[in-house]
Amino acid sequence: MLVSMKETMAKAKREGYCIPGVAVENEIVVRAAIAAAEEKNSPIILISVPTANPDILYFGRIVGDLALRAKVPVSICQDHGATFEQAMMAIRAGFSDVMVDRSSLPFEENAAQVKEIVKVAHAVGVGVEAELGHVGVASNYAEDAADDTLTRPEEALRYIEETGCDTLAVAVGTAHGAYPKGFEPHIRFDLLKELNEKLPVPLVLHGGSGTGDENLRKAAKLGACKLNISNDLKRAIVNKVGELSNVYRLWPTVFEAYKAETIHYIDVLGSADKA
Ligand SMILES: [Zn+2]
Repeated sequence: MLVSMKETMAKAKREGYCIPGVAVENEIVVRAAIAAAEEKNSPIILISVPTANPDILYFGRIVGDLALRAKVPVSICQDHGATFEQAMMAIRAGFSDVMVDRSSLPFEENAAQVKEIVKVAHAVGVGVEAELGHVGVASNYAEDAADDTLTRPEEALRYIEETGCDTLAVAVGTAHGAYPKGFEPHIRFDLLKELNEKLPVPLVLHGGSGTGDENLRKAAKLGACKLNISNDLKRAIVNKVGELSNVYRLWPTVFEAYKAETIHYIDVLGSADKA
């Protein structure tokens, strides 16, 4: 069934687990993600950046139809929408949620732009994820995860009240993309716990890939309710496809690799049997 992630994440916040937000770009990985969620009886959130698919209206029909037929709750969230128009197109395409990233703007401007989209989205039952603090890129970790980029609890509380956003992506030390080999990010679990206790909405962690299973288990228990994963899924596909000798096994291999990696994250994050 297709449901807004604000509903499945509210349950995750109450019960203390985290739902994988897996990046999707085409039909085959959407099918793999839903198959993984059904096998584990887990809710799932499909995330998709505006550039992921060249035709969002057509893609929205495919994803929406598959989500409606799923036996578990499936949410479709535009990831890192950068303009008002992108958010509106996602809503028109049938997405259940939009993530509006204005985290590189000053507070007031960020809040004003998000508030405008929240008003439209809520009018048609679509959830909004916003971001305060700034989650940078892993290859530039020292600068992008510096203390001044982290989410500040008091500011975040005011931000949620001003914007009316349903869920909030927070910066607590993770970063987008792949970390340098052997590198493990320093996650501020104390800050995550404090944000979860003080803020009325469920929290999202971006940059889940390469964070380490132990770190993620802990983050799920301390208040992360959605973990965005992209790099690890693609890496799993590339590795399995690289081992192939029979080229006719290409698409089944893509499906199986993506599904297996999604199942791994469902197990780590504790969302199995929470559908
Ligand atoms: Zn992100």
